[in-house]
Amino acid sequence: MNWITKFIKPKIKSLFKKRSSSTKEALWITCDCKNLIYKDELLNNLSVCPTCGFHHKLTCEERFKTFFDNSQYEILETPIPKDDPLNFQDVKKYTDRLKLAREKTKQSDAILIAQGKLNEIEVTVGAQNFNFIGGSVGSASGEAFVHGVQQAVDKKTPFIFFSCSGGQRMMESAISLMQMTRTVVAVNELKKNNIPYIVVLGNPTTGGVSASFATLGDILIGEPKAVIAFAGKRVIQNTVKETLPEDFQTAEFVKDHGGIDLVVERKYLRSTISTLLSILLKKKESQFISNNDDVTNLDKNLSKTSKAV
Ligand SMILES: [Zn+2]
Repeated sequence: MNWITKFIKPKIKSLFKKRSSSTKEALWITCDCKNLIYKDELLNNLSVCPTCGFHHKLTCEERFKTFFDNSQYEILETPIPKDDPLNFQDVKKYTDRLKLAREKTKQSDAILIAQGKLNEIEVTVGAQNFNFIGGSVGSASGEAFVHGVQQAVDKKTPFIFFSCSGGQRMMESAISLMQMTRTVVAVNELKKNNIPYIVVLGNPTTGGVSASFATLGDILIGEPKAVIAFAGKRVIQNTVKETLPEDFQTAEFVKDHGGIDLVVERKYLRSTISTLLSILLKKKESQFISNNDDVTNLDKNLSKTSKAV
């Protein structure tokens, strides 16, 4: 045995071992720009690629942590309907898919609702987790959304929703399509009660979600480069037989064509939404408050909020 087999070989082996174990723990993420990013670095940057600025998907909890004051919030319990009402099976049983998604995300379904404060304004917030069967909306997600709206109405707090979904859940067929009308009726309740409703459309917001509650906000904000669409680009291209622009269906394109109001980087979402809410709440409150003292107090609160922004 010479020094090569005794020292160099084990060294080389240990180097490879370290590399393979770190791959298993997924400490690194490859961005679309082909850059390898350390996962913690990405999370510290709100999951936005420091090189190309791509906004990676957030889970519901990550979204809440980045959005609420001091990352403090309370997740609300939402009704859970019976699993798999149609006894659906494709290559896998729907019940098995649900089981896997629940293990992976630690959520009972794709939508979570939380309450907390945004720059001292009490808000109810909903978010979709794309890791849960593509953020698809079935009966449980529909229930969660409606429950969130009910909470916002009962507590008179603005309702903010972060969409990120491929659309309705095919394993629940017509029942998932029904959630489109249910959620639209729920949004209507917000409007009847003068409750501000702001939607942040994440990447992607497509299918039935874009055709129902996600595009009915008083103000619609897209995250940069988020795909916002109903049908996919290739489907449309093959139907109209025309070459579509490179940026077709991106948040920027949709904004330029009047589909949404703003495109805002993730790091500015808190300040943008709290500013918008302070304006909307002031207008709405002033419709009802006749007592001058109350108005003065409200103004004081708003100036505090603006400073915080
Ligand atoms: Zn990148």
